[in-house]
Amino acid sequence: MTEKHSTNGLSQTETVTQPTSADESKDNPKDLKREASWPAVLFYIHLNILGIYGVVVLFTQTSLVTALFTALLTFLGIIGVTCGSHRLWAHRTYTATPILRGFLMLCQTLAGQGSIYEWVRQHRLHHKVFKTSDDPYYSDKDLLHSQVLAQIRTLSVKQQRLLDEIDMSDIEDDKIVMFQKKFYWILYLIFFVLLPINAPLEYWDDTVQAALFVAFSLRYMIVINVAWLVNSAHFIWGLDKNFKQSDSNLIFVITKTYWPQYHYLMPWDYQTGEFGNYGKIS
Ligand SMILES: [Zn+2]
Repeated sequence: MTEKHSTNGLSQTETVTQPTSADESKDNPKDLKREASWPAVLFYIHLNILGIYGVVVLFTQTSLVTALFTALLTFLGIIGVTCGSHRLWAHRTYTATPILRGFLMLCQTLAGQGSIYEWVRQHRLHHKVFKTSDDPYYSDKDLLHSQVLAQIRTLSVKQQRLLDEIDMSDIEDDKIVMFQKKFYWILYLIFFVLLPINAPLEYWDDTVQAALFVAFSLRYMIVINVAWLVNSAHFIWGLDKNFKQSDSNLIFVITKTYWPQYHYLMPWDYQTGEFGNYGKIS
């Protein structure tokens, strides 16, 4: 089944079918291979070790102010991905003033997930080829593939080709997103790395351990894993992993949602939460 949807001048094609054998037979096996991205593997290992150590430091060497500061930055980073790059920019579920878009752009920078432009491009591909082997987030496999392995492998030649075909014209018209794309690594260094580490040391004399392992590493580990769930939460909260309609409509009466099938059928509905809820912005 293929659904066409047009909103705010953005035409999207949502393809939710398994690939046909004819499609697969056309592909050169080399074009489907995804290699390990060793920088990403090392990053993932270090982030998790340092983040878990951050939990120890949080309870032993961290002031309440740093703990609250970390919670605030974590919350803002998650808002930047869920309300910003996912709802506003990838799916156009609402419109926003330049001030709100600027605020969400800074919040999205606080997620450390790469630029909004790249996030949107990959998420649109994820929706377009959902439940097929072309999905960069392995929506046809399992949570481990989607949440971890997708993030530490390069894209295949075919996925890169499909990514290049994604319509990004609406995003290219957004000056705030393009500004962030152009200066991403400077913004990342200032807002994501330096300020969160510097503030606990400079303004309320907390320990170096609290700044490095809690305000930076623990925050990064939480935000990035929650943000990755946007692409893989359907394995946890999905009603039917084979993407069939629910067996009973009572599910809708009880939970008021067929989430996440609903999100993949109507991604422009702002009321569908990323993590299984409906009717309130998550
Ligand atoms: Zn989505």
